[in-house]
Amino acid sequence: MADRSAIEWTDASWNCIRARNKKTGKVGWHCEHATTGCINCYAEGFNKRLGTGLPFKPGHRDDIEIFLDEEMLLQPLRWKKPRMIFVCSMTDLFADFVPDEWIDKMFAVMALCPQHTFPVLTKRARRMRDYFAPTGCVNCGDGQLEGGCCDEPYVLRGDKDSEAFRDALIEGAAQALYAKLHPGEDPSLWLAVHAPLPNVWLGVSAERQPEADERIPELLATPAAIRFISAEPLLGPIDLLRIPGGGAFKMATSTIGAATNTGWHQVGLHWVIAGGESGPAARPMHPEWARSLRDSCAAAGVPFFFKQWGEWAPDDFSNHSGRAAWLSPDGTLLDDVLEIDKSDCKKPCYLIFRYGKKAAGRFLDGVEHNRFPKVQG
Ligand code: SF4
Repeated sequence: MADRSAIEWTDASWNCIRARNKKTGKVGWHCEHATTGCINCYAEGFNKRLGTGLPFKPGHRDDIEIFLDEEMLLQPLRWKKPRMIFVCSMTDLFADFVPDEWIDKMFAVMALCPQHTFPVLTKRARRMRDYFAPTGCVNCGDGQLEGGCCDEPYVLRGDKDSEAFRDALIEGAAQALYAKLHPGEDPSLWLAVHAPLPNVWLGVSAERQPEADERIPELLATPAAIRFISAEPLLGPIDLLRIPGGGAFKMATSTIGAATNTGWHQVGLHWVIAGGESGPAARPMHPEWARSLRDSCAAAGVPFFFKQWGEWAPDDFSNHSGRAAWLSPDGTLLDDVLEIDKSDCKKPCYLIFRYGKKAAGRFLDGVEHNRFPKVQG
């Protein structure tokens, strides 16, 4: 667990799912690429240098032992001062190599730490939804709603029952943990988990429209106090109003009546983070992609956080020559990266330069966007 984090929107990270290299004994982390957004995974580079030494590939599962670090699991309980704690910044909590039992234990710790806020970010949106509110056939796990998915008699999992079952598991794990830490006290006197936990924010990564179209509807179907997307690295345009099912913001208003019965149970998307890629092989982010997210959030009244430009930034705040990519105003990258002199720029195209993450900074059209969502009681 990192006591502090360099990530702009969090104070600390919590990484109790670890991996041990069976050959060298080195301890680090494990994950597996799920999508184009994983290509330059920061955690993988860090793990290669300072962890198990292995890349994040499924082929390495036999080379490692993946385990839940019980000491790190409890660390948020020791932090009294409220913090924003990024859950599993070095892997994906909902990857298939993480058993439900470990997820239960981590949510139990979150339930026991109401002083902290826990953003959970995944690229495995379907598994996250299934963890909280599974649907489909109980035999094969298929999401089909009308049977015919396997040879077994078809049994549809009920959302409400499954949610209640998951809540009970989280509450049970939290009570067991509390009883272990405070022998002689009865946790049921004070602990009652009314999921979704108000201090847990659930989010999905969305780097382009196809990933947004696949993951955001799953997120919107998952019970959560706060739902967010991290459009980072932003690798293509995303129109949040065209998400299947009525758009990320429209869906919030169309389902609000049915889903506000618990008081914590907000619907829709509550927070959008956007940012460019960093690292040696970083890909450029077109400024129009970030502007479009900013503007649709502003129109919907949803908080927007611009995390960083990453390695590349538009040439709107200094004169510069060097490695550059042409941009067109319609939001496309026109060419491969070139070595360019600023005087070569021809209208209507303009340029995005490799300034480096620090110099590129976090201003979008001269403004720092730092808004966070608020849980409504
Ligand atoms: S899911 Fe996250 S941690 Fe895992 S490989 Fe992809 S970017 Fe890295």
